[in-house]
Amino acid sequence: MSLVSVQSARVTAIEIAGGAMAKIRFQCDSRFRFEAGQFVSILVPTPQGFVKRLYSLANSPEHAKANGYELCIKLVSGGKGSTFLCGLKPGDEFQFHAPYGHFEFHPRGRPVVFLGTGSGVAPLRSIVLSNRFQQAGIPFALAVLGFRTKGEVPYWDEFEKVGVATRYAISRENCEHPATKRGRLTDVLRDMKSDFPWADCDFYLCGNSDMIEEVRQFLAQKRVPKDAIFFESFSTPAVQMPVEIERKVA
Ligand SMILES: Cc1cc2nc3c(=O)[nH]c(=O)nc-3n(C[C@H](O)[C@H](O)[C@H](O)COP(=O)(O)OP(=O)(O)OC[C@H]3O[C@@H](n4cnc5c(N)ncnc54)[C@H](O)[C@@H]3O)c2cc1C
Repeated sequence: MSLVSVQSARVTAIEIAGGAMAKIRFQCDSRFRFEAGQFVSILVPTPQGFVKRLYSLANSPEHAKANGYELCIKLVSGGKGSTFLCGLKPGDEFQFHAPYGHFEFHPRGRPVVFLGTGSGVAPLRSIVLSNRFQQAGIPFALAVLGFRTKGEVPYWDEFEKVGVATRYAISRENCEHPATKRGRLTDVLRDMKSDFPWADCDFYLCGNSDMIEEVRQFLAQKRVPKDAIFFESFSTPAVQMPVEIERKVA
């Protein structure tokens, strides 16, 4: 059996939004290809050895080719992976395997609704910026993105700039901005116009499993067929990589 090779990454930039979300840019010696929406498995050094954590690529393949790869990380208090990544500085290095995952865009000529909370915005951003999405001739696209505060929104305006109408659900503070609503993502969905064509749209969901379950139940009530809902749960237990990788990096 052949070993999966370990890639080395070098951090080129890091930016923290709202004290809780980090945008990390990196380059690697041998570039890897990925589809928008896929993730990498990062080897996080700990005193007991490496642990693996999964992180979605936050920019498109085309953007990554020209400018380097990007991650969007939510800092979890006491979390091994997120604390390691958010503490990196330009010039620091880390190791990872890539790419993995099947949360990709399926062009079907139907309107698309992106629903994400927190760092779940990462693969959605990768998709909306990708040529595959931009060239798909979508009738219209909407994003509803949920964060605790406006300061934590890592990519304010960016979905709008590529033609995706965007509403922000801000759960912990009131905001004056007309694109925001105080509350949860599902509160924004319940506020949509009564003639919104739910059953005609494709839905892409990403975030924690509670949000995904709640939204799936909401969409079921709107008679959205199950095959029109694509989702990635960040709460899934980490995918187990082949043991050969563990041995190689140990
Ligand atoms: C396919 C996939 C893609 C992912 N992509 C991203 C991504 O792009 N960006 C990103 O930030 N994360 C992403 N995640 C989540 C990521 O893999 C880690 O689970 C997350 O960063 C927490 O790991 P940690 O090592 O920091 O915390 P751990 O050391 O694993 O956990 C520390 C403590 O924090 C709790 N905890 C774990 N996660 C959370 C959370 N989200 N909120 C609050 N408490 C938590 C744990 O229960 C534990 O008590 C993804 C997960 C999957 C499955």
